[in-house]
Formats: sequence, C-alpha cells, structure tokens
Amino acid sequence: MEDGQYAAARRDLVETLRSRHDVDERTLSAIGSVPRHEFVPEGDREQAYADRPLPIGHGQTISAPHMVAIMTDLLDVDAGDRVFEVGTGCGYHAAVVAEIVGPGNVYSVEYVPELATAARHRLRRLGYDVVVRAGDGRTAFGDEAPFDAAYLTCAAPGSVPDPVLDRVRPGGHVVAPVAPADGGGLLDGLRGVGDRSGQRLVRLTVRAGGIDREDHGGVRFVPMR
Ligand code: SAH
Repeated sequence: MEDGQYAAARRDLVETLRSRHDVDERTLSAIGSVPRHEFVPEGDREQAYADRPLPIGHGQTISAPHMVAIMTDLLDVDAGDRVFEVGTGCGYHAAVVAEIVGPGNVYSVEYVPELATAARHRLRRLGYDVVVRAGDGRTAFGDEAPFDAAYLTCAAPGSVPDPVLDRVRPGGHVVAPVAPADGGGLLDGLRGVGDRSGQRLVRLTVRAGGIDREDHGGVRFVPMR
C-alpha cells in the first residue's frame, strides 16, 4: 500500500471507532495521527488499520486500536501530564498517549530488551520523544515519580503491583488489565479460542486514604512477567 492508502485506512478506522465507542475526540485525533503501519511487522502492514491485535514478535502483541483508544481515554490526561507505561511492546500505545501529553512526557518500560531497543529507535525515527527503558515495571522509573497517571499493557496477576500505584500522585489514574490471582489466564490455551481469560480492565484512582476501583469489563492481554 502507498502512504495515501494508509492514511485513508486510518481515517476509516477512526470513523469506525467513533461510531462504536464512547471515546473523546482528543483520543480519536491521537489515533488518527499515529502511523500504526509503522509499528507492526512488515508482513502485517496491510492489516494495520483493522481493529484487531497483531503479533509483534517475542510472543507479544500490539493491542487492538479500540483497546488502545479506551485505555487512553480512561487515563484522562492532558497536555503536559507525565505518564508511566508498563509494557512498551512496539511503542504504538506510547505514541498515541504522547500525541496527547506531548514530547518527553511518556516514560515506558519493556521487559524484553530487544523490543525495548526496537521501540526506542522506531519512536525516535517517527519523531516521538518517549523515554523507553528495558526492565521490569515493578522497579523502573522510581527516579521519575510521581506521575500523573500510569497504565499496564500486560495483565497483572491478582492486582496492580504496589510499586506502580506508588509512582502515581494522589488523584491520578492507573488503568490496567488484572488477571485472576489463581492465574486463570494461563489456562486460556486449554479452554480454546473465544473463551474468556477472566481478566478485567480496571481503572484505579489513587486517593490519600486508599484506592478507588472501577471495573471496565472483560479483556484479554498477555500476562505481566
Ligand atoms: N503497548 C504495547 C503492547 C505490548 S504487549 C504496544 O502498543 O505494542 C505487552 C508488553 O508488556 C509486552 O511487550 C511484554 O513484554 C511487556 N511486559 C510483560 N511483563 C512486563 C513487566 N513486568 N515489565 C515491563 N514490561 C512487561
């Protein structure tokens, strides 16, 4: 496909998301700005603007565009806010959030060193000033806290790890898929395609006296390691 065809496919995707999901125009505009085809493996580029997840290597996936839109919307961030991402993957979700909060405000950690390196180079080449580190979301970026918001793109077992919550200022949100504590998601392969992983998308709000929790439905993400 040519650049113009990718741009047209991206506009169609934004129209589809607008008609099916209750997300902010700012979020849709961010999705409409990020060249998703640059983030997927070359052989999958023609599929880049279909609303579905795609493999990105190392057994990981880039989330479907509607999931990126919903999670970005739930973060409820503005230009200038600083955001902590756990699970850079290919860097697409980080780029979408960077469209909203601006350069230098997204801090992302990726467990697989090869994915972290590739995402860092890709984001830089495409003009996104995102700070990418290889490491574990439980320990990364303590030196950059507090953040205005955080999100996980991998499913936390049982609950969002405390070190992630500790990095977010009071009033800030943490958006994350949370898997059953018993590791129910690990049985996915045995239950077959279409079965639920038991994961829930949650939005936590950090309060002085504790954590508020909202449930945003069933989801399916790769497990946090
Ligand atoms: N936001 C990504 C989605 C990547 S999938 C994108 O747009 O492409 C989730 C990613 O989380 C995977 O790349 C996986 O390696 C990473 N991950 C899993 N456990 C992690 C951990 N403990 N710390 C950091 N990253 C982790």
